Amino acid sequence: MPTTAPASTAAPNLGDTRIAFRQYTDRGLLRAYWLFRIIGIPWLNATGRALTQFALALHLPIKWAVKATLFKHFCGGETIDESLQTAQKLGDAGVGTILDYSVEGQEDDDSLDHTRDEILLTIAAARKRKDIPFSVFKVTGLSPTALLEKVSNGESLGAEDAHEWELVQGRVLSICQAAHDAGIPVLIDAEDSWYQPAIDGLATRMMERFNHERAIVFNTIQLYRHDRLAFLKESFAAAERGGYHLGVKLVRGAYMEKERNRAAEKGYPSPIHADKAAVDRDYDDALRFCIAHIDRMAVMAGTHNEQSSLLLARLLEEHGIARDDRRVWFAQLLGMSDNISYNMADAGCNVAKYVPYGPVHAVLPYLIRRAQENTSVAGQMGRELRLIVEERKRRGA
Ligand SMILES: Cc1cc2nc3c(=O)[nH]c(=O)nc-3n(C[C@H](O)[C@H](O)[C@H](O)COP(=O)(O)OP(=O)(O)OC[C@H]3O[C@@H](n4cnc5c(N)ncnc54)[C@H](O)[C@@H]3O)c2cc1C
Repeated sequence: MPTTAPASTAAPNLGDTRIAFRQYTDRGLLRAYWLFRIIGIPWLNATGRALTQFALALHLPIKWAVKATLFKHFCGGETIDESLQTAQKLGDAGVGTILDYSVEGQEDDDSLDHTRDEILLTIAAARKRKDIPFSVFKVTGLSPTALLEKVSNGESLGAEDAHEWELVQGRVLSICQAAHDAGIPVLIDAEDSWYQPAIDGLATRMMERFNHERAIVFNTIQLYRHDRLAFLKESFAAAERGGYHLGVKLVRGAYMEKERNRAAEKGYPSPIHADKAAVDRDYDDALRFCIAHIDRMAVMAGTHNEQSSLLLARLLEEHGIARDDRRVWFAQLLGMSDNISYNMADAGCNVAKYVPYGPVHAVLPYLIRRAQENTSVAGQMGRELRLIVEERKRRGA
């Protein structure tokens, strides 16, 4: 199709596998090929997940096997220092790193304080480096989950819970304060819907406090929920009233099955849209809304969806917003959708990747989600594998 756009504003070509995989040696690409081949086989994926969890629970020595395969592909390392090599590599290609301390399921105060301290270290690391433009945390890493549920339900808290909730708010505040002081924006991940009202409340209070000049604190909006486009608009109206900037990361949502199963079990209507088309529509409408209101907003499109990523690039052009405007970001996970990350960065857009890190056994739930996500559906080749196969063909492998 003929195009009238000058070369510099031509739509990014997400199909360029040469750019997408240029950081992979032939050997590295072959390793990625086998990894996605194996996790793509549903029965092998399911058996592998069950065996891995079982073996790690029994402290069987399989850490090396996980570390050499899934961990190596999807994580930066076990520590911040180990992950900086990955940050450097991404940075060389113009892609930023978001150090994501991916330890889940901590409940006691010492562990929760430790998680806060670790997030503070990620902010300190970001402060020293140009290639780490954001920090991130999950509120479930800083709070007992039962407490988040009580706060979300609006239950009145007993003395012990009230004290614990003060501690949680203190942890969140110290992270957001440090992010503000370092000038490093901080993303607050979205989680299960039964914790989300407490998370939204915390995020809103932090935005009111720290987002006066620009968006430092970002809440996350999951557009697989049918109420979240309205929530985005309400959040924006609140920011306008409060005179602060709204920071949002837009995602579709990672916990669909869990949400639907719990709703069915407990007999309440599922918060998730009935079908994918409705999710896609809301996601793209949310992008349109953010760009139309960018004067008081900053937005990160956390997605592996090519159409939504291209839509955002098109919206920038339609609204005369520069691709490198610091209020607009594209983001993917390490080891996924490199075709979007590298081609968008190559086209001059702001791109960052979550680089999860932590001890192997502790990041296992994260790795299992990545494995599940890449199991092939109805025998079709998954998106990642298809791109790797294309690039191997291009290289004559
Ligand atoms: C940088 C980044 C940060 C992220 N942060 C978070 C976070 O904080 N919280 C969080 O929950 N997730 C987060 N995610 C994960 C995200 O929510 C998605 O699970 C994942 O990115 C897949 O969605 P997609 O937009 O990439 O694309 P697609 O592959 O187009 O969409 C897949 C998604 O669509 C939805 N979906 C699929 N089928 C159906 C259906 N039948 N009915 C309804 N919905 C359906 C699901 O949400 C599914 O994950 C993040 C992802 C990235 C890249």
